[in-house]
Amino acid sequence: MRYIEPHAHMVSRTTDDYEKLALAGCEALCEPAFWAGFDRSSADGFYDYFRQLTEYEPRRAARFGIKHFCWLCINPKEADDPGFAREVMALIPDFIKKENVLGIGEIGLNKNTRSELQIFEEHVQIALDYDLPILIHTPHLEDKLKGTKLIIDSLNSFSKLDHSKVIIDHVEEHTVKLVMDAGFWAGMTLYPESKCTPNRAIDILETYGTDRIWMNSACDWGISDPMAVPKCALEMKRRKHTAAQIDKIVYENPLTFLKQSPRFSL
Ligand SMILES: [Zn+2]
Repeated sequence: MRYIEPHAHMVSRTTDDYEKLALAGCEALCEPAFWAGFDRSSADGFYDYFRQLTEYEPRRAARFGIKHFCWLCINPKEADDPGFAREVMALIPDFIKKENVLGIGEIGLNKNTRSELQIFEEHVQIALDYDLPILIHTPHLEDKLKGTKLIIDSLNSFSKLDHSKVIIDHVEEHTVKLVMDAGFWAGMTLYPESKCTPNRAIDILETYGTDRIWMNSACDWGISDPMAVPKCALEMKRRKHTAAQIDKIVYENPLTFLKQSPRFSL
């Protein structure tokens, strides 16, 4: 099997995990900038993090024949202080032209605050200014539906935004249709404890179709599984999805979305 892992936080992962991904058929992975399990004390912490995403992780991945790409932003969890957020965003122009940077992400909302929304919209404008795609994080649990609606309303206010260059991630049964109907791509995150299990993700594919949707493991600092995508592909096979149908979800769809960034290539 070949696949693309479109959303993985490899800074939280061991080199052994890269080997496992490669053995499972992973050809490329994409790492959005996010919370690293702790609040950084200054913008300098993000400067080092952006170097890790653009210089060190690509080299670690290359040892296993995996191409590493990343997305840049200040994540919504640390973006609730607009002054601090803007200090971090001021670093983006120094990094945005690096060869593995795909676009702006994962921006979005965490607690659906006014400040988070303001910083979200400033990030969307950066993506428009550089004509790059956007990867969006939606809040957890009880905040997800409200946050997804706020995000879609906000995106609709940008008249120049091409919806096919935006992916809204962590969709679940109650948000996937909203996202797809508005013309955006949808991402499903496979988690052992929260978000989607493989069987819930496959139910969503069988209900809403397989266009403009991908799945990812996120594999961050918390309880998560870097092997979630190949495990879900195996479950699809067990549920009688054909090899071509599986390839579309785990390879062709991510390829179609990601190659909208001029930096993505395999
Ligand atoms: Zn993430």
